Amino acid sequence: MNFLEERIVKDGIVKPGNVLKVDSFLNHQMDIALMEQIGREFKRRFGHKPVSKVLTIEASGIGIAAFVAKEFGVPMVFAKKSKSINIDGDVFVAEVESFTHKNKNRVIVSKKFLHEGEHVLIIDDFLANGCALQGLINIAESAGAVVEGCGIVIEKGFQIGGRVIRNLGYHVESLAIVDAMDADTGAITFRVQEGN
Ligand code: 5GP
Repeated sequence: MNFLEERIVKDGIVKPGNVLKVDSFLNHQMDIALMEQIGREFKRRFGHKPVSKVLTIEASGIGIAAFVAKEFGVPMVFAKKSKSINIDGDVFVAEVESFTHKNKNRVIVSKKFLHEGEHVLIIDDFLANGCALQGLINIAESAGAVVEGCGIVIEKGFQIGGRVIRNLGYHVESLAIVDAMDADTGAITFRVQEGN
């Protein structure tokens, strides 16, 4: 097991409805030493790519993406959830259905912060059905940016997102892939990954 899988086993809680709670160290309270380690690990995996910007989505992607951006020495931009119906022409927009909240959010990134020809590394905490990632990819590509890869902290391999996004040809790296989890026993099975 790698450092993240060990931490998930120690502190993650399997909830009914295929939800893994990691709010004691990842997306409510954050273990900053672990965030630094995650940042370094994504640098190791994507360091050969010409990354000029890190892109994520609020809220729980922000903390993680900040540490990744620091490793690359580039800015981080996060897509904001927007309630406004009248979106002006100054933003890139995507519709994202939330897996955890079961609602649709319109997310936006200002055209000031994403440009044609930029090389974007997309970072998020979870990959489930792939809606969040697909929305971020759409935003990056509508800006004319190149998606160099997608770095995910925890992928739920029994949901379709990872397969769909990889089949579209994107380079997805997940630090942990959960292939099965059981809310009754709390058991979590990780996919064995090469070089992990
Ligand atoms: P997707 O769009 O891939 O279906 O879901 C990804 C988003 O939903 C992530 O940004 C994450 O915030 C949230 N999410 C999906 N599954 C889980 C989960 O099992 N636990 C937690 N804490 N968040 C999740």
